[in-house]
Amino acid sequence: MSHLIFTDSFINGEFYSTASHFDIIDPATEQSITSVSDIDQAGVKQAINAAHGAFIKLKSSNATTRSNVLMRWFELVMQHKQALAELMTKEQGKPLKEALGEVEYGAGFIKWYAEQAKRSYGDVIPATDDNHRLTSFKQPIGVVAGITPWNFPVAMVTRKVAPAYAAGCSFVLKPSEHTPLCALALAYLADQAGFEKGAFNVLVSENAKMVGELLTKSEVVRKFTFTGSTGVGKQLLAQCAPSIKRTSMELGGNAPFIIFANADLDEAVSGLMGAKFRNGGQTCVAANRIFVQRSVLDKVLEKLAEKVAALKVANGLAKDCDIGPLIYPQAKQKVQQLVADAITKGAKRVGVSAELSGNYYAPVILTGVTAEMDIYHQEVFGPVASIIAFDDEAEVLAMANDVPFGLAAYFYSQDIKQIYRVSEALEYGMVGINEGLISNPVAPFGGVKQSGLGREGGHQGLDEYLEEKYVCMKV
Ligand code: ADP
Repeated sequence: MSHLIFTDSFINGEFYSTASHFDIIDPATEQSITSVSDIDQAGVKQAINAAHGAFIKLKSSNATTRSNVLMRWFELVMQHKQALAELMTKEQGKPLKEALGEVEYGAGFIKWYAEQAKRSYGDVIPATDDNHRLTSFKQPIGVVAGITPWNFPVAMVTRKVAPAYAAGCSFVLKPSEHTPLCALALAYLADQAGFEKGAFNVLVSENAKMVGELLTKSEVVRKFTFTGSTGVGKQLLAQCAPSIKRTSMELGGNAPFIIFANADLDEAVSGLMGAKFRNGGQTCVAANRIFVQRSVLDKVLEKLAEKVAALKVANGLAKDCDIGPLIYPQAKQKVQQLVADAITKGAKRVGVSAELSGNYYAPVILTGVTAEMDIYHQEVFGPVASIIAFDDEAEVLAMANDVPFGLAAYFYSQDIKQIYRVSEALEYGMVGINEGLISNPVAPFGGVKQSGLGREGGHQGLDEYLEEKYVCMKV
């Protein structure tokens, strides 16, 4: 693993160190993995300039060359899959099997955009008279800046950087201060794969506000892409307004997971386990409010309780670990507060959950959750299954949609007419039907309402980095 640990920002193809350092903490042991240098303002400006220099070259490069470079990056990431996954588990805490899955999923974006790079077609538009020829074609937007979170330290980076590079854009990335090591390893591998110097720069910083301000205010940066909380996203969107940047925002969710009485209950509970407990519940598409039709509530709870009791909470590197630690102490405190608030307001805990030390938090099932409780409205970001009983379809749809978010929603049903009705009525950017894990590099990921702007993945993900130029010629 050690050959992929880097401790300085990566600018213009070189590591950039500063005197100021901070520790990267393993959430499982709460010990430092390594100390990294904290970027200064001069470094941020240097990275933007380097990206600008790279863009001048990239914008006249051809798509096949960029595709080949991306394919080499994909191959290198896959060659180092085990080392990257171990690094991810160390700095982020997720079980090693999930980390391996994320590296493959993250690499999937690189491969997909290596392929899509060759398909950014334009249009020939039928003219409205005999004397004109109308066409449009796509060009890279320019320098892109991005800020990513800690919950998917590889995939959140590749799903932005790969389409940007495929389009011909250069990138300045600020990964989460909790998980910069995976991002640095990815940048190193991209450099080895043949990325132009300055095409992919990584800024390591504990001062997210300073870096965020410089990136969003820069006139050189033409596109800003963010994945993180809705609160920070709103702030960054406002900071992008004065320079009218193109923006993509992947923000918070509050996913409903609906089990109708006619569903295959075993499949529904299996799907729920993935949608709820993957990454210890620390995903923006995690099932946050689980609606179960009252006539099958007892059966669902019995099946769920059995599966939850079998989950093994441990260091992510331990064999058979299902749930690793939460990311840091404040995350655990927040989950504890949400559960305490729900119980004070009448929710019931199914079974007994052990009090664990450090950042570990044992999974909990809560029944009788209501809209009066904070846990109904906030992203739990922890292994807590909040159950809400409902009587009919209209009632559950009203509850499912009655939140300001609209990222992912899931439902289990075997009634084909209901499947059409419900998938059309859910005000969400993504809907899983009889499936709890829906993310896929080939499909558009993104939300409506306050869950964000734009899409990542699919052919749509490439357009986020392209401008369309209309050309009108008189003949
Ligand atoms: P999370 O709760 O997932 O950490 P955040 O929105 O706090 O979500 O963080 C996501 C990313 O946004 C991280 O890289 C973090 O450093 C960055 N970030 C947080 N606050 C700011 C800010 N004020 N300006 C710029 N970036 C920020």
